Amino acid sequence: MVDIHSHILPGLDDGSQQLAESVRMAEIAVQEGIRAMIATPHHADGRYVNPSGTVLSAVDLLNRELADKGIPLKVLCGQEIRVHSGLLREWDENALLPLNRTRYILLELPFAQIPSFLPDLLHELRVLRLIPVIAHPERNGDIAENPDKLLSLIEWGALSQITSHSVNGLFGRKIQRLCFDLCRRNLVHFVASDAHDSARRAFHLSKAYDLLRRK
Ligand code: FE
Repeated sequence: MVDIHSHILPGLDDGSQQLAESVRMAEIAVQEGIRAMIATPHHADGRYVNPSGTVLSAVDLLNRELADKGIPLKVLCGQEIRVHSGLLREWDENALLPLNRTRYILLELPFAQIPSFLPDLLHELRVLRLIPVIAHPERNGDIAENPDKLLSLIEWGALSQITSHSVNGLFGRKIQRLCFDLCRRNLVHFVASDAHDSARRAFHLSKAYDLLRRK
């Protein structure tokens, strides 16, 4: 499996705080059958910045550590980019990293509402030939209230990624049911872990896939 959303890089955001914890996360990922993982530290969410250069150095450091320890996980570069009005300028300034240097770019919505400028932003990203991927839409208040709002984002050119822990019920029954509902409506394109640590919020990707398959 490939995990496209994780906070495995140490000391950059509210994910792993130390290199040893990142290594532990990598070991668990490998045990679960994950062979490649895109590191997506928070960017521009009001707390963390993590421009591209910072992420690339941290990815290099972690990959070297994993190679030294013989852990067969390849860590790839990315960011979880909060949607904000300066995003296109940051793209021009090369401060943003798409997922593993592809045309896919991971976007995080605010927790409550969908910003009014989002349709325009999605359009401009498509003009730049980028493919926006909306991270955990099931945790956005507007979408939880009205899943048709996710349909609109997809019609405007976005894809969507739900989180394994939401599928598995860690964030409550309501969010879990919403995940099943979004899948039934074909509004989901990726499942990823959004892993933050080696304990409560690790990966559990296989469990989520099994549950979805059964449903
Ligand atoms: Fe995340």
